[in-house]
Amino acid sequence: MDDSRILVVEDSKFFNSIVSKAVRERVGAEVVSAFSLAETMNAVSDGGSRFGLALVDLVLPDAPNGEAVNWLQDQGIPCIVFTGVFSEDLRERLLAEHVIDYVVKETPSSLNYLVDLVGRLYRNRNTKVLVVDDSRTARRYTADLLRSYQFQVFEAENGEAGLGVLAETPDIRLVITDYNMPGMDGVEMVKRMRATHDQDRLAIIGVSSGGGNALSAKFIKFGANDFINKPFLREEFFCRVMQNVRVLDMVERLTEMATKDALTGIHNRRFFFEAGETLFASAKRDQVALTAAMIDVDFFKKVNDTYGHDGGDAVLKRVAALLRSLCRQTDVVARFGGEEFAILAVNMDDGAVHPFFDKLRAALESEEIVHAGRRIPVTASFGVCHGVGTSLETMLKTADEMLYRAKQNGRNRVEVA
Ligand code: GH3
Ligand code: MG
Ligand code: MG
Repeated sequence: MDDSRILVVEDSKFFNSIVSKAVRERVGAEVVSAFSLAETMNAVSDGGSRFGLALVDLVLPDAPNGEAVNWLQDQGIPCIVFTGVFSEDLRERLLAEHVIDYVVKETPSSLNYLVDLVGRLYRNRNTKVLVVDDSRTARRYTADLLRSYQFQVFEAENGEAGLGVLAETPDIRLVITDYNMPGMDGVEMVKRMRATHDQDRLAIIGVSSGGGNALSAKFIKFGANDFINKPFLREEFFCRVMQNVRVLDMVERLTEMATKDALTGIHNRRFFFEAGETLFASAKRDQVALTAAMIDVDFFKKVNDTYGHDGGDAVLKRVAALLRSLCRQTDVVARFGGEEFAILAVNMDDGAVHPFFDKLRAALESEEIVHAGRRIPVTASFGVCHGVGTSLETMLKTADEMLYRAKQNGRNRVEVA
C-alpha cells in the first residue's frame, strides 16, 4: 500500500508552512497541511493514499487537549507531536499515547531536529529489521513499535527461525532479540549471526528481563551491539534503535568515502587493489583469464591549460562515467589518480579483448563533452594485459608497459600484451 504522504497539523499558518516546506524538501514526499481537527479528519478521509506519518500540534482551536493526536493514533497513523510548552506530566502522557517522539516548538533547533527525524524515519522505510521473540505478545509489541518508526519488519519465534529469516533476507540491518527462547537462545543466535554478518553491517540489540548485568555482558561479548532491559521505556527503546541505525549509516558512508573517488564517484585505487586481489585469486583458482587495463587521457595537461581546471574536472567525470557504463557490472573500474584509470575484467574471450577496448577508445573519442559552451575533444591511450598472470601487480606492470607503448606509437590507441 502506498502510504508515503505526510500530514502536518498545526494551526499557525506560518509554522505549518515552514514545517511542510522543510519536510517536503528533505524527503520529497507529498505533504498535506491541516489547520484544525476538522480539517485533519477531512484530509484523512478524502480518499487519497494513506498517511504514513503525521506531525501534529498538541493544541488546536477545536482540539485543545491533544484530541487530534488521539484521533490520528486511533486511525493507525504514527504521530510526532510538537508542543509549545513542556512538562514532565505532558511527557508521560505523550509517551503513554504511543507517539513516536515529541518536539518542543520554538527552541531554535527544533525545526532541524524535526526534519532530521522525518528524514531518518523515511530512510527506515528501506531498512529491514528482524524481531526474534518466542512470546507472541512481546514480539507484536516490539514489531508494532518498529513499524511506527517506518521500518520493514520481519518476525521469528526463536533462534533457529531467526537465522532462517536472516539467511533468506541477508540485507536485514537490525535484529532485536529476546534471550530466553525454546531451542536456540538469543545469545547463541547472535554468535551464529556474527559468522556471516559483522557489527558494521548488522546491528543486534539484545532484550531480556531478569538477566541483569551478566546477561547484557554476555550478549555484548558474543557480538550484540547493544542491550536493553525489559520492561523498557518506549522512549529508551526508540533512542537505542535510532542510535544504532544511525551508526550503521555512518559506517556505510565512511566506507563509501574510503572506497570511492570524490571527483568522479567511481571506485578509487585502494578499492581496485582490494577487490582486484579477490578477483585475481578466484580467476586463478578457476583457471580463467583476467584482463587488466591502464588508461591514460592524452595531453590532459593541455586540456587544463586550454579549458581551465574546471574543464579538466568535467572531462575526468565524463571519462569515468563512460568507462563505468560500458563495462560489465562485475568489472572493477577505478580512477587510479590524476587522469589515469584502471579496469579489471574476468573471463573475456581472447579474441574479444582488443575489440572491446578499442570500442571504449572510440566511444571516448566521439563523446561530446561541452564545458562553458565549448566542446572539449578528448582521447585516451590504453595498455592491456590479458591472460592468467602470476600476480595482480605483474599484470598491472605489463599493462603499464603497454600503455607506454600506446603513447609512443601515437596515442589514442590500444596495445594488448
Ligand atoms: P600524456 O598524453 O603523455 O599522458 O600527457 P598528459 O598531459 O596527459 O600527462 P601529464 O601526466 O603530463 O599531465 C597530467 C595532468 O593532469 C597534470 C595535472 O595537473 C592534471 N591533473 C591531475 N589530477 C587532476 C584533477 O583532478 N583535475 C584536473 N583538472 N587535472 C588534474
Ligand atoms: Mg595523460
Ligand atoms: Mg598521466
